[in-house]
Amino acid sequence: MNVFKFGGASVAGAEDIKNVLKILSTQKTNLIIVVSAMGKTTNALEEVCNHYFDRTGEAPALLEKVQEYHVAVTLELFGNREEEIFRTLEKLFSELSKILSGEPSLSYDYEYDRIVSYGELLSTAIVSAYLNKQGRKVKWVDIRKYLKTDTTYRAANIDVELSGQLCRKAFTFQDTFMYITQGFIAGTLTNQTTTLGREGSDYTAAMLANLLDAEQVVIWKDVPGIMSADPKKYPHTEIIPKLSYREAIELSHFGAKVIHPKTIKPLQNKKIPLFVKSFTQPDEHGSVIRELDERLKLPPIYIDKDDQLLLTLTPRDFSFIVEEKLSEIFGKLAKYRLKLNLMQNSAISFSFCIDHNEAILENFLCELKEEYKILYNKNMRLITIRHYNEETIHSLIDDKDVLVEQRSRLTARFVIRTGDEKKSDLFEF
Ligand code: ASP
Ligand code: MG
Repeated sequence: MNVFKFGGASVAGAEDIKNVLKILSTQKTNLIIVVSAMGKTTNALEEVCNHYFDRTGEAPALLEKVQEYHVAVTLELFGNREEEIFRTLEKLFSELSKILSGEPSLSYDYEYDRIVSYGELLSTAIVSAYLNKQGRKVKWVDIRKYLKTDTTYRAANIDVELSGQLCRKAFTFQDTFMYITQGFIAGTLTNQTTTLGREGSDYTAAMLANLLDAEQVVIWKDVPGIMSADPKKYPHTEIIPKLSYREAIELSHFGAKVIHPKTIKPLQNKKIPLFVKSFTQPDEHGSVIRELDERLKLPPIYIDKDDQLLLTLTPRDFSFIVEEKLSEIFGKLAKYRLKLNLMQNSAISFSFCIDHNEAILENFLCELKEEYKILYNKNMRLITIRHYNEETIHSLIDDKDVLVEQRSRLTARFVIRTGDEKKSDLFEF
């Protein structure tokens, strides 16, 4: 059995969904298809949710746009409104409208999950109806019944034991060769909807593969495979045909966006290979992440993280930054769920990079400012070069303003200033 995952871009329009059919039509093994919300639907539903939660009154109008988009794509696929799928869409959208006509609860995260999850319910309903109509028999599964999580809304943790039991009962392949189900969403024991974190469909695919002992996972993307750099930013890029699980985990830790960071572990544990392939060139080899014994010679791989904050904390009493102080700072980072993207300490200061999140920054800094003088730079870019050599470093940073530099045997990292250097970007909190 194989697991295929189609991301938002691969089901964004009618032509894309037809292309999914084309890819599936050559498949002969048992298959579970995991699908994300169409195009940018998750962003749009996030907006709907925010307006609902803030009671601006604009949520219904925004929802209507989402509905128009889904209906338009469906109409293009089916050509007429008589099909059952239009009733299904109406039902799903009227459920959403009903939520919006009520009062939001006090939990934003809970509201978020129950609203945003419709993106995947809609996309799978449409794709499923289309495949069946075209004679590609596929069974639609509501994954919320079988992938069970705790109640950490927006970042739910999967109950592996229970989900394994339930999924093995749901995906038996007795009456079908092919199932279609939602990425990103799941359910609690009491059937509340949860989500696994943005871009979490890859993780769903990996978990299903793990729980059901799949032979392989294929992630179909709008890039030809795992690239050595973002082609939009770097002039010379190449496809990396083979990577070890370990390398892939390191890359996604440093911020490579091709795969969701939690995806690799469940596959590595069961030695299931993960293919990343282009949905526009399905016959090309793409990339594979798998167990590899040999030490591969990899080209330099560039990973950019934009919109970084570079903070420097200095104790106001000029005491040293020792372990107790660091553990205090780490505690605060954990409390605000801020991921340390890079850190460096000296005797009396501690510098680190985090993603810029305006919503929590002030509260976070308030907790530190009694004890520390806080300086920070906004709009920094953190560049990681895996498998660097001197030449790649020179060509990257020679004309840049580097604020922090770190090198280990395999990895070089630089925090650089972006944009207009004259515009002062140093702040004191
Ligand atoms: N639709 C969700 C998102 O955009 C999940 C995914 O695409 O993997 O975050
Ligand atoms: Mg998506």
